[in-house]
Amino acid sequence: MHTTTSPVSKPTCQGLNKHAEPCRGGVAAGKQWCFAHDPERLVDVAAARAKGGANRSKPKPAPPIDLRTPELQRLAIQQTIDRVRRGDESLNIGRFVVYAVRLTRPILELEDLAERIAALEERQGAKA
Ligand SMILES: [Zn+2]
Repeated sequence: MHTTTSPVSKPTCQGLNKHAEPCRGGVAAGKQWCFAHDPERLVDVAAARAKGGANRSKPKPAPPIDLRTPELQRLAIQQTIDRVRRGDESLNIGRFVVYAVRLTRPILELEDLAERIAALEERQGAKA
């Protein structure tokens, strides 16, 4: 005979396996996920820390962002992606940084245009 109703004796993982079935992995005491599905381990380290209340290892503060060149802008986005994925930065901050980088583009283009026009005007003035 098959026992279908097993009392909640041993907690199992809250995750899903690759067939989208509940993971049957065992969990450590006080944990909800097995090692493979532990979100704390995977992505959301920051959120898991906040939930746990323990604030042992605070993430390093992000270095100042310099957006003066396209290369620096690319770097800023890249570093922000890394920080968000490591859990050092919230997704909101990540979105904000990417948004700010996008805003920078037209401003830099305008500055560049203004400089070129000024240079042109100067040359015109020198000729006249
Ligand atoms: Zn699992």
